[in-house]
Amino acid sequence: MSERTVDVLVAGTGAAGCASAIGAHDAGADVLVVEKAPRHGGLSAMCSGFLRAAHDRAGAAAYLAATSGRRVDRELTDTMADWMVELPDVLHELAAPLDAEVSVRFGDDQGAHETADLYAWPGRDALGWAGVESIPGFDGYDWISPSKGHNLMRVLHHQVERREIDTWMSTPLVELLGDRNGRITGAVVERDGRRETVHTRGGVVLATGGFEWSSRLLADHLEIPDITPIGHRYNTGDGVDLAQRAGAATWHMWHLHGSYGFRPPGRVAMRNHLGGTRRDERPVAWIIVDQYGRRFMNEAPPAPQDTPYRDLGWLDPETGEFPRIPCWTIFDDAGRRLGPVGRAAWSDPADAYHWSADNATEIDAGWIHRADTLDELAATIGVPGDALADSVARWNRHVADGHDPHGRPTGTMVPLDTPPYHAIETWPIVTNTQGGPRHDHHQRVLDPTGTPIDGLWCAGELGSIFGHVYLLGGNLTEAVMGGRTAGRSAAGAAPRPADRRHDHTQEVA
Ligand SMILES: Cc1cc2nc3c(=O)[nH]c(=O)nc-3n(C[C@H](O)[C@H](O)[C@H](O)COP(=O)(O)OP(=O)(O)OC[C@H]3O[C@@H](n4cnc5c(N)ncnc54)[C@H](O)[C@@H]3O)c2cc1C
Repeated sequence: MSERTVDVLVAGTGAAGCASAIGAHDAGADVLVVEKAPRHGGLSAMCSGFLRAAHDRAGAAAYLAATSGRRVDRELTDTMADWMVELPDVLHELAAPLDAEVSVRFGDDQGAHETADLYAWPGRDALGWAGVESIPGFDGYDWISPSKGHNLMRVLHHQVERREIDTWMSTPLVELLGDRNGRITGAVVERDGRRETVHTRGGVVLATGGFEWSSRLLADHLEIPDITPIGHRYNTGDGVDLAQRAGAATWHMWHLHGSYGFRPPGRVAMRNHLGGTRRDERPVAWIIVDQYGRRFMNEAPPAPQDTPYRDLGWLDPETGEFPRIPCWTIFDDAGRRLGPVGRAAWSDPADAYHWSADNATEIDAGWIHRADTLDELAATIGVPGDALADSVARWNRHVADGHDPHGRPTGTMVPLDTPPYHAIETWPIVTNTQGGPRHDHHQRVLDPTGTPIDGLWCAGELGSIFGHVYLLGGNLTEAVMGGRTAGRSAAGAAPRPADRRHDHTQEVA
């Protein structure tokens, strides 16, 4: 087994990992980054690339306290409010070497992404968003689904490259090493089929993302019995297990961002086409019914990739079954032509898929069922025909009245009256998780007594402060600013070069 010694070891090359590496390097540390996947970027590169910014700290702090369900110390949400105010300057600075265009928008300037996607809680007006709009000469990564997340990751990764920070790809961190006092002193990584030891003078930053691809962790921590991941297959919750084995407390393990979507045979699941943001006036073609043929939810809530999965997890006390897993998305032929029902997201070219604009390809593939009458459709998908007909008739009355008892925004409501009718099997989908090790505002991992574990930090959505509802853009801001903080803090724990005269652990490979 070969060995190496660095000041700071970072695991993960998403936004949090890159920001941690940059922060540690700029604080004077010798940094090594390891990444489990063959390509950098994680979920951060395939996401929509919106970062939450704020122009007023007090307002942001109030909104964040509510967004976190008051489950976390005010010190942490206040720190996040500071970060949201600082973010625009940091983003401009990071983007400068590539001449990338950064936009920062507040109030009326936010256009399609104004605060409609936020909850109407105190402080909302303090918030806006930022993003890397474009980079001269960069057309995006060709292995990831198209999105603005590419630009943010290109900016961050370029900053890692220009600092010549050593990065080992296809190299998972598999074990943390500690001394007899419980201090983390390094880690074991797997590289080219061999285990290598990396000793750390300052510490290890775990930025390994979420656990959406760990069926064990999902089953252990979520109330909903069946939920399907999209996205980045390498996010298997390694950081959760590693931190727990080092004595960490965990938090927010139950909280995820999730919606409803589809499981085409032989493919990675795909979410419904509504993105993270939503404005009332865009029509949504479909309604959703359960296995009894009954409609049960607002299909287009304010943050459509956050809470909708929760509606699908209802346990019928009469039967002990979950009659909304799966359920059915129903639309008519006018709705079919309104636009794609599903949207794929991938970080591996093998998973690439482009949903057809009129859903015709997916009908031909048999993913979407089609029938001339609602009765025939009900028979095809196995729900009671009279219940489905009643649900559609009620829906059409709600559309005519301009009022939906389930709270659908009026502008999204369209009638279902143009045959043929369509149905696609619909499942709870997890976009990304929030749980992981509990940490303080320096991103130091805490044990169950609230004491920092020496030598161990976390960043990004591994142990996110969000433990209640989605703050669109909050994850990326937390990843960038929290990563910087973790990296700096870990670098600060390393002895300065002059103190290393008696350090005999360097480069013994
Ligand atoms: C479709 C979609 C759209 C989204 N849009 C937004 C948005 O607009 N704004 C927003 O704020 N959030 C958004 N999110 C959420 C956001 O993408 C994530 O919260 C964020 O990218 C997490 O960053 P991260 O660095 O913590 O994790 P990641 O970017 O996932 O990086 C984690 C990395 O760690 C690696 N890794 C895992 N295990 C190990 C190991 N053992 N050793 C070494 N490396 C390991 C992984 O391969 C991965 O590269 C979106 C998510 C999705 C899926």
